[in-house]
Amino acid sequence: MKTVEEYLESLRRRDVRLFIRGERVADPVDHPLVAPSIRTIAESYRLAAEPEHREVFTAHSRFIDDRVNRFTHIFEGVDDLHKKQEMQRTLGRVTGTCFQRCVGMDALNALYNVTWETDEARGTSYHERFLAFVREVQRGDLVSCGAMTDPKGDRRRPPIEQPDAYLRVVQRRDDAIVVRGAKMHQTGVVNSHEIIVMPGRALSEDEGDFAVSFAVPVDAPGVTLVYGRTPSDGRRTGPALDQGTPYGGQEAIVIFDDVLVPMERVFLLGETEMAVPLVEYFAGHHRHSYGGCKPGNGDVLIGATALAAKLAGVAKVSHVRDKLVEMVHLNETLYGCGVACATRCQSTPSGTPMVDPLLANVCKQNVTRFPYEIGRLAEDVAGGLLVTMPSADDLDEPEIGPILTSLLRGAEGSGRDRAAVLRLIESMTLGTTAVPLRTEAMHGAGSPQAQRVRIAAQADFEDKMALAARIAGIDLDATEADGEVRR
Ligand SMILES: Cc1cc2nc3c(=O)[nH]c(=O)nc-3n(C[C@H](O)[C@H](O)[C@H](O)COP(=O)(O)OP(=O)(O)OC[C@H]3O[C@@H](n4cnc5c(N)ncnc54)[C@H](O)[C@@H]3O)c2cc1C
Repeated sequence: MKTVEEYLESLRRRDVRLFIRGERVADPVDHPLVAPSIRTIAESYRLAAEPEHREVFTAHSRFIDDRVNRFTHIFEGVDDLHKKQEMQRTLGRVTGTCFQRCVGMDALNALYNVTWETDEARGTSYHERFLAFVREVQRGDLVSCGAMTDPKGDRRRPPIEQPDAYLRVVQRRDDAIVVRGAKMHQTGVVNSHEIIVMPGRALSEDEGDFAVSFAVPVDAPGVTLVYGRTPSDGRRTGPALDQGTPYGGQEAIVIFDDVLVPMERVFLLGETEMAVPLVEYFAGHHRHSYGGCKPGNGDVLIGATALAAKLAGVAKVSHVRDKLVEMVHLNETLYGCGVACATRCQSTPSGTPMVDPLLANVCKQNVTRFPYEIGRLAEDVAGGLLVTMPSADDLDEPEIGPILTSLLRGAEGSGRDRAAVLRLIESMTLGTTAVPLRTEAMHGAGSPQAQRVRIAAQADFEDKMALAARIAGIDLDATEADGEVRR
């Protein structure tokens, strides 16, 4: 497995075509807007090397018969699902933000199943190709980004009617394919080695060119990355105190301009009927992931809120205590749902564990709501200084600095301590790292309605009606037959 230094060095060796704020950036590793997100991903390497985290952050791979970083692991049983979630919660607690490495892990696990099932149904040989890629990722301890979301254009129209809005195959050769299009919102791609591309929706039989899955290096010819602006990026060049945290997430648009993909890196090509299973496997695993990372982030925000209350002298006030309890209740509900969907996993045809889909969707649906309420309560307890506080430069100014720090002081700790904890809360609710607890919680792994559609499909309302009918003494068969209710 790679050390942190080896990971950073491997990023520098890439020849990425990257734009940040209208400029080409050759080496993003030390770029002030990117460095916090690389620092965050690097924690997945640092913790894997620490003996006390080894059990959770690493796993034995049967494909290379060696210990690998769990982010590159193919799940073998329920224990792996639980350890994955524990790893995510730990990283969420250590960084307080999105650590970007789970999308690729969930994509690998989805493709493991789909390549196996496609081969079974079609007699193709995707699975062996895919396993060769898994070995490469595991041996190199690589970061993969999971690329599913297309631009989608007019959301009502299918890909066949607006091909430019979806990534697609534009040329098929014996040894390679050529792909064109884009993937939006790609988490961690600037900090990755590989991009794993998957279709993101149901496809009709005549949409075979859109039913494509493959992996390419982030610096493959024709791949362009455009870094996404985040709230308060402008502050990244300012003093550390104003930033609130040294960590951060990262998203980018990836443009594929006639990218050549060798056939040994192609995992699906034209099998439109496999698009839905792929989305289902990926979404199931990824919605489970949110039961790990967000509670981890929530722990940090709850801790910061409790600390702010303590410094202000209101830690023991009953309504503040109650608000902190409510934050914990919401946070542990997210976590509990993640544990539940993993515990109730079932074996897939290829023998890997798949989370309970209904509970995974409920888990993610809660994630689209509870972090907002947790953030609201944090802002309540933090007070208005959260958005009205002078900058670190003012606190350092010789004439007014001492006055300001004494004005900021509460019941205990220094004025600077109070400023630091409020800036952390600000960064997690409104600023630099707010994205994971707000819009990413809302849309990552699918918008709320995507989960509600699946919840509706999996809820089994017939079964629930039968339960109610039996207790209420309604003969549903008779009701259906003659339109009357019999008691
Ligand atoms: C921070 C962040 C990180 C992300 N990381 C990744 C990543 O690493 N990889 C990846 O592949 N994706 C990633 N995503 C993308 C994410 O999966 C999408 O944002 C999500 O699926 C919603 O798609 P959209 O953003 O295009 O929203 P839209 O599709 O524009 O949705 C906006 C609204 O319109 C509704 N809507 C859209 N289409 C329809 C329709 N046909 N019928 C009815 N209602 C509709 C939605 O329900 C929603 O309410 C990320 C997103 C965010 C915000």
